This record gives sequence, structure tokens and C-alpha cells, in this order.
Amino acid sequence: MGRGPLLHADADAFFASVVLRHRPELVDRPVAVVAHVFVASANYPARARGVRGGVLAQEALRQCPELVLIDVPRAEVEEAGDALFDLFHECARAVEPGSMEEAFLDVGAADWPAAVAAGHELRRRAAAELGIAVSVGIGRTKLMAKLASRAAKPDGLHVIRGEQEAELRRDLPMTKVWGVGARTVERLAELGVATLGEIDTVPWDTLRRVCGTAMARRLRAIRDATDDAAVRPVEHRSELSAEGSISGYARPDWTPAELLERCVERVCRRAERAGLAAAGLTITLRPDDGSPAQVLRRAGRTATADLRAWPAVARELLEQAPELALTGLRVTLTGMTPVDQLPGTLF
Ligand SMILES: [Mg+2]
Repeated sequence: MGRGPLLHADADAFFASVVLRHRPELVDRPVAVVAHVFVASANYPARARGVRGGVLAQEALRQCPELVLIDVPRAEVEEAGDALFDLFHECARAVEPGSMEEAFLDVGAADWPAAVAAGHELRRRAAAELGIAVSVGIGRTKLMAKLASRAAKPDGLHVIRGEQEAELRRDLPMTKVWGVGARTVERLAELGVATLGEIDTVPWDTLRRVCGTAMARRLRAIRDATDDAAVRPVEHRSELSAEGSISGYARPDWTPAELLERCVERVCRRAERAGLAAAGLTITLRPDDGSPAQVLRRAGRTATADLRAWPAVARELLEQAPELALTGLRVTLTGMTPVDQLPGTLF
């Protein structure tokens, strides 16, 4: 792909933003979205009071007694994530997902002003069409774009231009180099290496021993400004799934079959976009009487490139299942392989 500047787009406090779209009365109050008793996402008023993602909800409540806790609405969050990626794909010619709410984008920008214009447009559309704030970082490589999006938060756009890079690279704290673990940072600090510019103060063999060869090479590449600038659109994943909730937010009158159809459609669209074929399909039914989830499974030995086969498979599986009142279900495509790596296909 092109050599122009890249974008890193990252939704701000994503789970919390999705929830607050329908709860405007809570926007200025500290809110945390909770998944499995842990804080999954905290809005900025909550962060200002010291609430962080990853802590136990009870602990967060002690820290901030006025905190409003909301269970993560999984299906709604997933739909918002899908809509966000639809928008990314409309704005870019290549999208490399980082998570369900962040991605590197190649918008085909030939120069900095074009990249900045594309970034503003993406942010405007995310706010207007999806009701969520997306921060955008722009840089020459993926690391620079990612550092820029961190600097852009909350709800902003930040550019790290070519001429700022040299200084930034030299002074970059090891803690900010994405992919370097806490233990490695600690061991480097013991050797007197706290910034990227200091890696040459230790012998190459020592650096390799402490970081591993691949990371040591990567650190040198970052320092030398030859780090990764390619947006790779294919998602290398062995499974993709979509969650749907009946008792949830949008259509309480959906039948399981309708919900199933919608989930299969969503997950197949994601697979198609990622260039992946699937070998199997699993449906997880969540009964509303609290009994254990029921799993229905169809698995082939090799992946089939034609995604149109899966809706019928899913329907058949559901028809064979005992009739149940459900709170929701999950559809998972399994055994995924990049379409262009399938043996013996003409695709
Ligand atoms: Mg984010």
C-alpha cells in the first residue's frame, strides 16, 4: 500500500460511550461499564476520579462512591463495533483491525493535509452517525500513528509529522513502545535503558538476551525509523463471532430464528471483509431460565470459501434444537483460514 501518512483511529472509552448514547442524563456523571465483576471501560468523569479499566467493580466503587455501574450490553457493543468498522471501510482503502474499536487506516492520503482532512471527516461521521467519539492519530508509521492517537485523546486529532519523529524516537520512554512488556521494561531499566535512544549503551548481545531477538530488532528498527508502515487488511483469526440479545435493546419481539439470521449475516460480513473462510459454525443458545448454555455445532475438515453456505447451516442446526425461551445467542465461525491460502480453490 501507499507511502503516505497513516491513521490510527481509536474510539474513546468505547463501551461507556456506547452505553451513554441512550443515557444522556449520565454523560456528566462518573460511569463504569462492568463485565464479569471487572470495570471494562470508564468514562472520562470516572477516570478523573481515579477509576481505571481492569479493576474490580467493588474496588472502583470504594474509590468513587458516586460511580454508576452498568453491565456491559454485549450485543449492543458488538453492533456498534461493526458499525464503526463499516465506517472505517468507507473512509479507507485498507483497514487493519487492532481491536473491536480501533484500527490502522490507509486512506490513500498522498500528503499530510489530505490525511488530516480524512481524519477530521472520519471523526465527524463517527460522532454524527454513530454517536461516539473517535480519536485519530496520524503518523508516517503505525507506531507513530498510535502514539499520535494516544496524544489526541479524548475526542481529538493529533499529528506526528516526519520532522518531529527523530526527537520523539530518541526520547521515547520504553514504557510507551507498544508491545514491550512490563518485565522487559524493568530489566532494561536495570541496565540503564529507559528510552529508545539509550539502547545503544548496551551491547547488542545483551539487548537480545533481555528482549529476545525479535523485539531487539524491532527496537532498533524503531530507533532507525524503519519500523512498520504497512496497513495489513487481513485479520488472522481462527474464530469470529457475533452476539445477539433478545431481551436487549433493539427489538424485544425478535424470534430466535430472526436473531440467528442477523448474527450469521454479521459474522459472515466480517469474515468476508477480513478475507477469511470458515470450516465450521457454532451456535451458543442462552436459555432465559438461567440453565446452562446449549451449544450446537457443525464442523467440516476444510474451510469453504463460499460464505453463503452458513445461513442455511445455522437454520438447520437451530431447527434440530429443542425449543427454548432465550435471552440471546452467539454465532461463531470456526476453523478460519485466509481465502487466498485455501488449497485447491480458484478464488
Ligand atoms: Mg479505545
